[in-house]
Amino acid sequence: MRGIVSVQAATSYDEAVMDACVAGHFELLRLDELLRPDMRVTIKPNLLMKRRPEEGTTTHPALVAAIIRRLQKAGVTQITLADSPGGLYNHPQLTAIYRATGMEAVAEETGTQLNLALESQNLSCPSPALCRSFPIIQPVAGADLVISVCKLKTHCMAGLSGGVKNLFGCIPGLTKPDFHWRYPDPEDFCSMLVDLCETVKPAITFCDAVISMEGDGPSSGQLRPTGMTLCSRSPYALGMALCQVIGRDPEEILTVKAAASRGVGPAGPQEVELVGDPLQCYPDFRRPCTVSMDFLSKVPGVLRPVVRPLVDRFLTTRPRIDHKRCVGCGKCAESCPAHTITLRDGKAWIDDSKCIRCYCCHEMCPIRAIHVKQNRLLRL
Ligand code: SF4
Ligand code: SF4
Repeated sequence: MRGIVSVQAATSYDEAVMDACVAGHFELLRLDELLRPDMRVTIKPNLLMKRRPEEGTTTHPALVAAIIRRLQKAGVTQITLADSPGGLYNHPQLTAIYRATGMEAVAEETGTQLNLALESQNLSCPSPALCRSFPIIQPVAGADLVISVCKLKTHCMAGLSGGVKNLFGCIPGLTKPDFHWRYPDPEDFCSMLVDLCETVKPAITFCDAVISMEGDGPSSGQLRPTGMTLCSRSPYALGMALCQVIGRDPEEILTVKAAASRGVGPAGPQEVELVGDPLQCYPDFRRPCTVSMDFLSKVPGVLRPVVRPLVDRFLTTRPRIDHKRCVGCGKCAESCPAHTITLRDGKAWIDDSKCIRCYCCHEMCPIRAIHVKQNRLLRL
């Protein structure tokens, strides 16, 4: 399935720069033809947790604000900003995250609605490979048009946090760990994410790749200036382009691989037409430590039950808690689908025997007290 990806160079989040980027994407991809003034449009940024924009964990508010201004220029008035971040999905949590991530200020400046409704709706996947239906937060389920605005980050479990992975935040609150529990194999999990993407069907996907995150993303990596915003009507084509940006083989990024094998995404970079500015590529973009995931993904499905115990024993990376840093907030335990984290004496402890290595705990620790530790063999 061929796709077009628009690239706009951007070395800062200045308002004029972001407006020019969004205008360029709109023109090159003819996005105005998707819009009608009477539409209910929901923008879904990546608001993983309570972090400031400059920490590079969440979609930058300057890009979101520029998208809203451009929608308003096209006559769209019913615009909602919505996400279900990691952890609890309730008013105090949403309000705190909107404030920290700069979305509250964007909503005030642009007159946009911030979602505080907590309902969800079950939507069926039109062509499921694994998962037939999903609970979807109401502002996304009820929208006429969904715009996903992801952040370019590595991801310890999925390899890449792009447009497809961003949609995991359409599943409400602590229902998300259930999906990790149901699909512990990364290849299955990423295939489920493609089912989710086919269910939500975002019409437009933007990517904030001005300052990206490399290493142990999506929340504990390092910032890397990459100087672009990207946009596509196809989240899968965007994912294929992002593989080129971060120097990864598309076969290693399991959402991209799953979309290609199902024929909903491009089969390779040759099926992605790049328009706009040159795509900046960073072959030395640091990978997450979770090498064993890459290894298992290359093993044919039928052989995995045999190979997995060996990989578990000799190659597996594991989450490890730095007890000097841990403050016992319990966020990791709250998000652990295997319920294998307990709090004792004001510190969190992991029972390795039940861990499914989803890295939700690593992702959700607000003070980066959980590290991904490689097996000694991998460090040789
Ligand atoms: S490891 Fe992190 S998330 Fe877990 S209790 Fe300690 S500080 Fe909180
Ligand atoms: S301990 Fe961490 S990595 Fe293991 S299952 Fe729980 S959340 Fe996932």
